[in-house]
Amino acid sequence: MMSFTYARAHDALEAFRLGSAPGAKYLGGGTNLVDLMRETIEQPSTLVDVTGLTSEIEERADGSLLIGAAARNTALASHRAVRTRYPVLARAITAGASAQIRNMATVGGNMLQRTRCSYFYDDAARCNKRSPGQGCDAAEGFNRNHAILGASSSCFATHPSDMCVALAALDAVVHVRGTNGERTLPFAELHRLPDDRPDLDTRLAPGELITAVELPALKDGARSTYRKVRDRASYAFALVSVAAALELDGDRVKEVRIALGGVAHKPWRAAKAEQALRGQPATAENFHAAAAAELADAHPLRDNAFKVELARRTIAAVLGELKEMKA
Ligand code: SF4
Repeated sequence: MMSFTYARAHDALEAFRLGSAPGAKYLGGGTNLVDLMRETIEQPSTLVDVTGLTSEIEERADGSLLIGAAARNTALASHRAVRTRYPVLARAITAGASAQIRNMATVGGNMLQRTRCSYFYDDAARCNKRSPGQGCDAAEGFNRNHAILGASSSCFATHPSDMCVALAALDAVVHVRGTNGERTLPFAELHRLPDDRPDLDTRLAPGELITAVELPALKDGARSTYRKVRDRASYAFALVSVAAALELDGDRVKEVRIALGGVAHKPWRAAKAEQALRGQPATAENFHAAAAAELADAHPLRDNAFKVELARRTIAAVLGELKEMKA
């Protein structure tokens, strides 16, 4: 590991001042960044510890939640308002990593964790995300865990977070501090598809600091859940995951939100499936048809064609579960 300078920020202004210096990185729980530093994939000149910034989870009068970026994953998943009003988020977080890692990981750090593509971690492999222009050994290599939606010829990596899939389905809003003060951006705009710059995971400007994430109120009657399909029951990344919220008006779909994990470079909002379902009878047939519409654009690689059918079936199964759930 290279030598680096450590600094602990006491407020967001100080954090941004320190973190906007060339080569600086923000340090949350360190559950991904420190691993990357050990492998010399990340080589920051300065680590700015932001775990002392706000971790408050504020219940607001309009029914929304404002979550400080330094909140630990465990604290968020176990918060009463999250468990009762956003079960999709509580379930997504507890489906991720191990209890020890969830105790350390922060909400801000979870959003900024990097792909677990094995070639990205192997400096003997070619990887455009690690070394732009080098090539991608996953393209013809072992790519069972890779993307089937939204990939480019530059990169087929998937986003590893479970929490972020739920945030995508919940239309979360990210609060950021940058050169011009505070700004917000829709969660759907935080992460990027790879295009020809897979080295860029997000749309944050250099030095910008995530300070909080806001969850809009889920309308009364919305039911939500998260299902993760993986190779073993714990401590494994998703092959496919589905975060969904469903609001019914009688037997019809009034509103539906669906996001997928394990299938793309970013949490994938299933807009085509949602569009196909709004106003339609909430039937198994329609759930399957909507899922098929979403996966119609899938481009599987040699080893991951199974994900297309797996995603279709998981979407339909989750929607069926939500339909039967007591609101
Ligand atoms: Fe690198 Fe992306 Fe290719 Fe993996 S899929 S080797 S992260 S460029």
